[in-house]
Amino acid sequence: MSERVYIGLGSNLADPLAQLRQALAALAALPATQLHRHSAFYASDPLGPADQPRYVNAVAALDTRLEPLVLLDALQAIEQGQGRTRKAERWGPRTLDLDILLFGERLLDEPRLIVPHYHLQARPFVLYPLADIAPELQLPDGRRLTELLQGCPFVGLERL
Ligand code: ATP
Ligand code: MG
Ligand code: MG
Repeated sequence: MSERVYIGLGSNLADPLAQLRQALAALAALPATQLHRHSAFYASDPLGPADQPRYVNAVAALDTRLEPLVLLDALQAIEQGQGRTRKAERWGPRTLDLDILLFGERLLDEPRLIVPHYHLQARPFVLYPLADIAPELQLPDGRRLTELLQGCPFVGLERL
């Protein structure tokens, strides 16, 4: 049985829009997985260190039969393949970030994987793209996307 998974994509280095398009192609090519749809692309202000370029973000919906940690490994391999280097600085610039926002109805709290993504509700660059593709979404803990949007103004974000 496949599960609907939402992935947050972000990039602010080395032609971010091209990075996101390449990442969407890589997601579509994952085994036991179909790319259902993706949002528009958005430019966004960076989290954390302000002395870095703006990001381009999007959200993709997948249907996958992969287990969560197997999918996380695959996402990290795609990040590495697109030149992501992990530095000590948190939220520093990167060619590609792929975060699992939601994984079906699952609530996961493991050392390598927290789902729903812990900071989902505070990030306009996640919530507004998510609303493009799943406006009726309800999180497994009962929260509705429409409620989260009301608490997260469309600030620092630009639809491309
Ligand atoms: P943030 O998580 O605040 O968006 P980040 O995406 O920059 O920050 P990363 O450096 O990409 O953070 O990932 C750090 C670690 O987060 C990863 O090694 C991974 O094991 C862990 N992690 C926990 N939950 C998730 C999740 N839902 N999706 C992706 N990675 C996660
Ligand atoms: Mg992230
Ligand atoms: Mg990440």
